[in-house]
Formats: sequence, C-alpha cells, structure tokens
Amino acid sequence: MFVVLAVAGAVTGACGGSGSTGSGRLQVVAGFYPLAEVATRVGGDRVEVTNLTPAGAEPHDLELTTRDVDRVEDADLVLYLGSGFQPAIERVVERSGNGLDLLSNELGLLEGEDAHGEEGEADAEEEHGDHEFDPHVWLDPAIMALIVEQVRASLATLDPAGASTFEANAAAYITELGQLDAEMERGLATCQRRTFVTAHSAFGYLAERYELTQEAIAGLSPEAEPDAARIAELAALVRTQGVTTVFTEALVSPRVSEALAREAGVRTAVLDPLEGLSDVQRARGGTYVSVMRENLAALRSALGCA
Ligand code: ZN
Repeated sequence: MFVVLAVAGAVTGACGGSGSTGSGRLQVVAGFYPLAEVATRVGGDRVEVTNLTPAGAEPHDLELTTRDVDRVEDADLVLYLGSGFQPAIERVVERSGNGLDLLSNELGLLEGEDAHGEEGEADAEEEHGDHEFDPHVWLDPAIMALIVEQVRASLATLDPAGASTFEANAAAYITELGQLDAEMERGLATCQRRTFVTAHSAFGYLAERYELTQEAIAGLSPEAEPDAARIAELAALVRTQGVTTVFTEALVSPRVSEALAREAGVRTAVLDPLEGLSDVQRARGGTYVSVMRENLAALRSALGCA
C-alpha cells in the first residue's frame, strides 16, 4: 500500500505544474493516431495530447528524434503498443517508467505468424522487427473499446479530480464504438464472398471479429517486401475465389497492390488500416469511427454484401 501511494504521489507531483507547457494539464504522448484519438476523446480539456507519428506518415518502426525522446521522458503518460510495433518508444519508456502498453493479453492477441498466414515467410518477417503478436488490435471496434477503458483508468489514477469527466467521456465514446461494431456486424453478415486481399497484414482482428478471411500481400509490417511467389499465389487465389478488389492503403505506396490487381484483372480500392490520418482525411475532419465506416462500405462493395 505504501509503495502504491508513493508512486501515485510522485506521478501526481510530476504533472502538477512541471508539465512541459506549464498548462497544468496532463501531458499525454501517444505512439500513433488511434491512441492519440482515444486520449483526446477520454481526456478532453484536462489533457494535452501529442502524437509522435508525424501527419501523413505510417507508424511502424517509428524513429524518434531527440525532441521526441524528451517529450516521451517528460510526459505524464505514454500510450503505445508493444510487441515490436514501435520499438524505439518501448526502449525509452523502459527507462522512464511512464508508459502504458495497450497490447495486453486480455485483448485476445493473435500470434504474429498466424496473422500473417504463411509460416514459411517468417524469415522475411524477422528482418523487419520481431512481432510476437499481431499489434493491429485497434481495427476491431470491440477491442478499441477495451483500450478506451484502459486509458480512462490510467488518466483517473493520474488526475483523480478528473475521474468523473473521464468516465463520462469514455462512456460516450464506447457507445459510439458499440454502434459502429453493430453496423459492421450487420453490414458484413451476408456477403457473396468472405475473403479480402490487403496490402499489409493489418486486418487480422477485424477479420476474426466479422468472420472474414484476410489475405495480405506483405506481412505485419508494410515495409516487408513480398516475394514473387506470394504475388503469384495471390493472383491465383483472386481468380479461383472470384475476388473483385485488391485493397491499397493511403499511407504506403500502392505499387505492389496495383501490380497484383493488374495481373489478376481486378480493381483496387482503399481499405484504411487507420495507422494515421492523411492530410485529406484531416481536412475533412475524419475520425476513427468515420474512417471505419468508409472501410465498411469498401468491404461491402468488394465482398458483395446484401
Ligand atoms: Zn500495420
């Protein structure tokens, strides 16, 4: 009990005026967009949120500038995903002790190789960071709701005076996520096809939740270059399963997806892994829920859903 109180006291002391802006608000640093949105939605006016991943960039294997390292060290709370998604952040919070890894086993994590689908390609995966688990949990709205709850609990510990505000904000956001989940469940229930082809293996949790099958060109990290054999295998799969669409992403080059679509004689469309918002999405006021609704429409069109 003494230890818990001492730690809580130390953390509260750190935010009570020594925050980097002197605003008195909790300084929250997030590794990438979805976690920054959760912090903003739950924290409201009581937090100041910094997203470490620059606008328009994708977050895998993010490198930190000296200024980023300072921000992480000075923050009251650092929200990130472990399992090699952004190892530079993991290394800093290991020292600074203010990190909250939201990739916890309670979320029902998928193993890295399973999510990728092809055990034979494990070697290529390891060159781009070792993913023990698939980190893309945020693409399942029900898991996103569990992340919201974890962030609410952490903020309430750091700022007890804000606990009721965080509780109300979290409840409102979780309600929205529940509505989104219900829409996706209904919208993907009755479809002519259940297999979709993506650029990188980001949609394993989404596929699991709505009983779809993801076939990805690249692995868990978008930089992992696919080999010619994988492309040929996918082209054959597209033909035999009557797949209509090869999905691309906004933040990574569509070159390989476009080549596969050409080879298989089908179209491309965007399925957004929400690893960040593009400038266009930001200008339109895009949010996690709005982009997921666009994803739902893209999936329904590609899969021929009723
Ligand atoms: Zn990814």
